[in-house]
Amino acid sequence: QTAKSQAVYDRESRFGAHNYHPLPVALCRGKGVFVYDVDGNQYFDFLSAYSAVNQGHCHPKIMAALTEQASVLALCSRAFYSSLLGEYEEFVTKLFGYDKLLPMNTGVEACDSAVKFARRWAYTVKGVPENRAKVIFASDNFWGRSLGAISASTDPSSFKNFGPFMPGFEIIPYDDLPALEKALQDPNVAAFMVEPIQGEAGVVVPKDGFLRGARELCTRHRALLICDEVQTGLARTGKRLCSDHEKVRPDLVCLGKALSGGLYPVSALLGDDEVMLSVGPGEHGSTYGGNPMACRVGMAALQVLEEEGLAENAERQGTLLRKELSRLSGKVVKTVRGKGLLNAIVISQEFDAWEVCLKLAEAGLLAKPTHGDIIRLAPPLVINEAQINKCVEIISGVIDGL
Ligand code: PLP
Repeated sequence: QTAKSQAVYDRESRFGAHNYHPLPVALCRGKGVFVYDVDGNQYFDFLSAYSAVNQGHCHPKIMAALTEQASVLALCSRAFYSSLLGEYEEFVTKLFGYDKLLPMNTGVEACDSAVKFARRWAYTVKGVPENRAKVIFASDNFWGRSLGAISASTDPSSFKNFGPFMPGFEIIPYDDLPALEKALQDPNVAAFMVEPIQGEAGVVVPKDGFLRGARELCTRHRALLICDEVQTGLARTGKRLCSDHEKVRPDLVCLGKALSGGLYPVSALLGDDEVMLSVGPGEHGSTYGGNPMACRVGMAALQVLEEEGLAENAERQGTLLRKELSRLSGKVVKTVRGKGLLNAIVISQEFDAWEVCLKLAEAGLLAKPTHGDIIRLAPPLVINEAQINKCVEIISGVIDGL
């Protein structure tokens, strides 16, 4: 490590809360699929800020939207109408085919709002007795760090010593339709909230037909299906939404991360009138939610995904990446899995994913380990075939050298 990068780590450690354990690289610049550290080294970004930078770092069209709007009107709050919010809401709802959009800022807020709206629907439309509504989640879910999110978590590092927790949540195993059917026997169930692929759990891909089955069960038992597409959505898995792979239409969709291409915190909840209009004026909100900057940036970010065919590119490059990585040494790599450009390699217990990521960084590729034995591989969706081949070369070189 150079003195320059060490100074960056030391300062954060001295003045910042210690709630992250970053890989030792000090980044200061990004462009497209690349990021650069304070010493001028270039890296392929294989995390994409946890899939927020699907459009590539500092995309010119999204940057222009951000900077132009910043000098016109940045924030006026929802106390007044803004000339952009309706335009943004019309654009997004028409693109995804829903009646209404609720604008929020971060992923966890979109998911928390989904739980609130589902509860409200349960009481006012479905007829669940007051304070009895239940929301079902899958084990190993991840939807953020708020008290609501950690109350649904099965990961002790998320919830331990942060209690007491939110009641009314039930956990069933992921990818388990019989368990869902059993849980749905309770007439007080408002919703089943699920990630179509579990990202933070280590890119866990359910069996074909799981989401379709979940859709049918929720419909049959009059519970809402909420898809948390904060990480899987917006072209990451090779379709606009991951639920599109099984032609499933969730009742509520949570979006975040790439909704701004990484330039601004923008999230949203999408749904139809029956649910969305069950919450009235003064009953939910956010100071920054739906602000003019977010609206302009959100529209530009979605336009880039569509205009540049990034879902199709994710599908194409992801297929190539998995095909090439499947040739890696079986001594080190147990599994290569994923959809589109949301992928992971699972390595044998005798190797340490953190050490592998340090070696990848030395070789010019940044990836982040999860759970000690899983390395997520999720580059910006603007990556091309030559770059994928170069990255496969880097990854193979590191794995073969272990
Ligand atoms: N939902 C999913 C599926 C996520 O992966 C994440 C973050 O990784 C979130 C929600 C929370 O998003 P944020 O960190 O913006 O609150």
